[in-house]
Amino acid sequence: MKKKLIIAIDGYSSCGKSTFAKAIAKELNYLYIDSGAMYRTVTLYCMRRGFISHDKLDIQGILNELKDIVIEFVYNPDIAEYETFLNSENVENEIRGIEVSKHVSRISQISEVRSRMVELQRQIGMFKGIVMDGRDIGTVVFPDAELKIFMTASVEIRAKRRYDEMKNKGIDVDFEEIRRNIIARDITDENRDISPLRRADDAIILDNSKMTVQEQMIWVHSIIEKKINGS
Ligand code: C5P
Repeated sequence: MKKKLIIAIDGYSSCGKSTFAKAIAKELNYLYIDSGAMYRTVTLYCMRRGFISHDKLDIQGILNELKDIVIEFVYNPDIAEYETFLNSENVENEIRGIEVSKHVSRISQISEVRSRMVELQRQIGMFKGIVMDGRDIGTVVFPDAELKIFMTASVEIRAKRRYDEMKNKGIDVDFEEIRRNIIARDITDENRDISPLRRADDAIILDNSKMTVQEQMIWVHSIIEKKINGS
């Protein structure tokens, strides 16, 4: 039997991590997990429960209900993709909206939220054969992952990609607002105390500013081959 890997893909907001990770998972027939979707789902729950206000978080409220937040990834055969569910409700579109994006970095700073998500992520990855993307996958969640990739791209290009993605989904958005949100999330994600966004020492850097997904796949192909065959 072929050796199964854990592939950890970390990097900045909106630099195409999920597109790339999904393509790798499809090629290898691996499970793909979007860890950002988990933090977004917790954020949506907290917004609905009124735990997030402009200048304050109701930390105690969040901690009391953390155990009530059930996150699942359910396969939708119509679009051949997994969608995110919060307590049995499909929230895939809602968690991608700008309101959730505005608050998610505040929620992902809470250590208890992180511990809970990391625990779930490790459970999902127990049997390997998984591609997971996020901010701390190679550094904290799976420090022994066989392959770690750290992705980056220019802010302008990332904002344009996120803008196009949302427009395509029929969501009305303002380019400047998206650009500002990306910069703000970079700063918060890189500077938080717990599990800040940083490259693992053994992660390979991929700047995909000028690369298509196909070019990225060609780039990663030989790297994966070597990892699987151990040469
Ligand atoms: O990947 P995405 O942009 O959807 O992630 C949303 C937010 O979730 C990030 O800005 C970050 O605050 C948080 N996150 C995290 N750790 C991860 C994945 C995402 O803190 N592993």
